[in-house]
Amino acid sequence: MSAEKTIFKRIIDKEIPADIVHEDDLCLAFHDVSPQAPTHVLVIPRKEIASLAEVQDEDAALIGHLFAVIRKLAEELGLADGYRTVINCGSDGGQSVGHLHIHLLGGRALTWPPG
Ligand code: AMP
Repeated sequence: MSAEKTIFKRIIDKEIPADIVHEDDLCLAFHDVSPQAPTHVLVIPRKEIASLAEVQDEDAALIGHLFAVIRKLAEELGLADGYRTVINCGSDGGQSVGHLHIHLLGGRALTWPPG
């Protein structure tokens, strides 16, 4: 892991602001600065995991927790008609921030396949 903090670690450490919608012992959720849908939230673990490719077997409960939070957020944010979760992994996956994050997108009909 690089010594330089990622932008998401700086949000966790409250060094830079974010529009936070959920916070607990294990994770944080906040609105994406460049929303790709009417609702676009990022859910990140406090634990510094660089990408999905770096997730360890011991992280299974943590990953499950992130999705439980997403389900609750989707209800709270009114995504009754459905939503999409996305995890971009690595350069081919289009990952631009080296801290694991799950995109929660909703509020419009999303197209498939992705680009
Ligand atoms: P990815 O391309 O999957 O790595 O997603 C990174 C996401 O982080 C992008 O959708 C960015 O718009 C978003 N992002 C980058 N910086 C910030 C920030 N300071 N606050 C909120 N979202 C951010």
